[in-house]
Amino acid sequence: MSGVALHWFRKGIRLHDNVPLTKAIESCSTLIPIFILDTDFLDPKKVSANRLGFLLDSLKCLDEDLQERGSRLIVAKGKPSEVIFSLIEEFKINKLTFERGTEPFNKDLDDELIGIVNANDIEVYSNWGHILFNPDHILALNNGKTPVTMNVFLKLASSAPTPLKPIPAPEKIPPPPADFKPKNVEIFISTPTLSDLKEYGYDPEAMTTWFKAGEKEGIKIMEDFLKQKQRVASFEKPKTKPTALLPDTTALSPYLSVGSLSVRLFYHKLLEVLKSFKRHSKPPVSLEGQLYWRELTYLIGYSTPNFHQMRENPLCYQIPWTEGEAAQEALKKWEMGQTGYPAVDAAMNQLRSDGWMHHLARHLVACFLTRGDLWISWELGRDVFDKYLIDADWSINNFSWHWMSCSAFFYQFFRCYGPVSFFKKTDPNGDYIRKHVPILAKYPVKYIYEPWEAPKNVQEAAGCIIGQDYPRPIVEHKTVSQANMGKLKKAYDKNKADRAKPAKVNAEKLE
Ligand code: FAD
Repeated sequence: MSGVALHWFRKGIRLHDNVPLTKAIESCSTLIPIFILDTDFLDPKKVSANRLGFLLDSLKCLDEDLQERGSRLIVAKGKPSEVIFSLIEEFKINKLTFERGTEPFNKDLDDELIGIVNANDIEVYSNWGHILFNPDHILALNNGKTPVTMNVFLKLASSAPTPLKPIPAPEKIPPPPADFKPKNVEIFISTPTLSDLKEYGYDPEAMTTWFKAGEKEGIKIMEDFLKQKQRVASFEKPKTKPTALLPDTTALSPYLSVGSLSVRLFYHKLLEVLKSFKRHSKPPVSLEGQLYWRELTYLIGYSTPNFHQMRENPLCYQIPWTEGEAAQEALKKWEMGQTGYPAVDAAMNQLRSDGWMHHLARHLVACFLTRGDLWISWELGRDVFDKYLIDADWSINNFSWHWMSCSAFFYQFFRCYGPVSFFKKTDPNGDYIRKHVPILAKYPVKYIYEPWEAPKNVQEAAGCIIGQDYPRPIVEHKTVSQANMGKLKKAYDKNKADRAKPAKVNAEKLE
């Protein structure tokens, strides 16, 4: 074997079930395993220390795993296409391997890379390693149309080829060139940490998530969860607890998001467990169903123009969300856990401190920000989630914000989450609030969800005066949620009327 291969680690930050990496190894004596930190990503206003730190820790684990096999990770800084092009030229690369991406920016980049590869006459191998099903197959089965409901997706998936079985991690990996120092690409001496990125405004102390990164950790969490067979077989998402102090679901999303856990490994291991049960829960609420939700979001993101915005997005209702300074102020209060509704604030505090929260907590705060209470655009909430979540994922996040704001996929706007009542169902004592809004920790159970109702002497005894130490409610939920339902109904009627007259719109455009 001779030749130099370049494997670009994009999301699949792992060695197990990494088909492109394995293909690269098959035909080379030198392998450059590279991760490219795009400088646009290095902005604490858009990407929190938790999110970036988790990614960097995942890279560090990958580097250790590569070193165990005779290689090491190269981390470069720059634009992926420029870095790859430069390395191809300088090191006479004859094979490029990588995992494909479904997001529009990644699709564009894939096209660019294929162009570079063709122009340089080198071999390329890429696959859909981040998802279970080839999105082009599923779309073809649906005559090119994007499926927008789980029922349709399940039918299509049942006719599609079964997701490939995962492959093991390679035992040995050829090393990169000795003393690897590219002329035109900036590389880090070793895998960077947040301290190495202080020039971009990152503070290592700001990383507070308790999640440990890496594929070993992801696999361990998966195995520990799957060992609880009865829990797996009876898993029903709506019955899990958003207020649990330890995650009540698998908490695998950070690992699936950066790809340090292969979704195919999880899927096949999960099916093995389910096989041993005559009866088990079923999609969409089962654990298997959660992976299908993930697939559906990728498919929709892959095939819908402008899926990241309301305008010119064919699936999204046009809703006149509040804009301007007042909206920005309310958004900031929501982001910083200062709405005066303890349940909402606790969840947002958990988001900022842990970089993760339970699915139904995400429901509560997303509904509150948009159609429930504050009437603020889902795009702004999506950005806040994208900044803080260590499992931040373009497709799932955009899809979920469409859903929660009743902009697409879910239209029952009269069903609204109560910021006082919702968490009470699973946490009557308010322990989740006591943990994540510690200023309220000493409030009696009676007032923990509505501290503004507590008499002055109770507030004093609890050491927290409302309006002084903790805010009063930002809005009166009952009143605004009723008003918002009316506004949404009006917006729906207008959208329906507008959609019913496309011919006129086209004619106007032509004039
Ligand atoms: P589990 O219930 O154990 O599910 C296992 C896996 O299935 C998850 O890790 C995830 O990969 C997938 N999954 C679970 N629920 C969903 C779902 N509803 N849609 C798509 N895939 C799902 N998830 C992200 O991974 N990244 C995001 O950026 C993200 N943003 C969200 C924004 C909002 C407003 C909402 C309501 C949900 C969002 N979710 C997002 C979906 C979901 O909340 C998380 O995937 C889940 O809570 C992660 O916890 P878990 O791994 O324990 O999930």
